[in-house]
Amino acid sequence: MNLLDRFLLRATVTDVETVTPRMRRIRIAGESLRGLDWLPGQHIRVHVDAFSLRAYSVWDYADGEHLDLCVLDHPGHGPGARWSRQVRAGDQVAFTRPQGRLVLRDSAPYHLFVGDETACAAFGAMLRALPLNARVHGIVGVDVPHGRAPVPRLGELEQIHRRGPDHIVAALRARYLPAEPGVAYVAGEARDCQAVRRHLTAERGWPRTAVIVKPFWTPGKRGLD
Ligand SMILES: Cc1cc2nc3c(=O)[nH]c(=O)nc-3n(C[C@H](O)[C@H](O)[C@H](O)COP(=O)(O)OP(=O)(O)OC[C@H]3O[C@@H](n4cnc5c(N)ncnc54)[C@H](O)[C@@H]3O)c2cc1C
Repeated sequence: MNLLDRFLLRATVTDVETVTPRMRRIRIAGESLRGLDWLPGQHIRVHVDAFSLRAYSVWDYADGEHLDLCVLDHPGHGPGARWSRQVRAGDQVAFTRPQGRLVLRDSAPYHLFVGDETACAAFGAMLRALPLNARVHGIVGVDVPHGRAPVPRLGELEQIHRRGPDHIVAALRARYLPAEPGVAYVAGEARDCQAVRRHLTAERGWPRTAVIVKPFWTPGKRGLD
């Protein structure tokens, strides 16, 4: 047993479903999934080939039943995207326990979600965990014009065609937000994340602690976590 094996859990892929033309929901199940500590927004790191781990947010976890991921098939041909294309029901998968600081802050006066398609699994799990009367705002950028982000409460979020940091900030600038700061959850492409944080803190005067940022990927870099 090598060192990595000691830290990895193992389970079986039981279903792979296409949820949008570029996104697959991958369901895994097995005894090792019992009693995991998971908070909506957290991710696991999956052993996608012999050499690479890639982080994927948990879309849904039902203790004793299954854990779901939503993986984007992006055009960058990385090992994570390749795994999502090839994986089939019956395949074994190794992964870490859930981890991460992109989680809900219950005390927030309202919740602002800003990200791209890769953030949809994290945002989806967080949005489902919020009470229905929680105030929610947000913008999700999708790469395909008229594509559809797979998130619950989409009616309360604005969906835009993603065209870079300036564009997402312009959409946010134009968006009504209450005068007092809420808590922002910002995830997806690293430069979008930085620009959104700058906008909220420098232009809207939000404290930095009210902006939780987690870059998920950036062009030219491999496996950001
Ligand atoms: C905490 C965390 C949670 C994440 N959760 C999710 C999730 O739920 N679903 C999900 O799909 N991804 C998620 N990601 C991103 C994921 O971990 C991988 O980085 C991503 O899938 C790319 O991995 P890869 O091996 O395919 O490509 P890599 O080898 O990492 O990258 C190769 C190249 O592909 C390009 N590339 C990478 N990602 C994209 C993209 N989205 N669009 C266009 N080009 C890209 C870049 O140019 C990059 O240099 C998460 C990342 C983090 C850090």
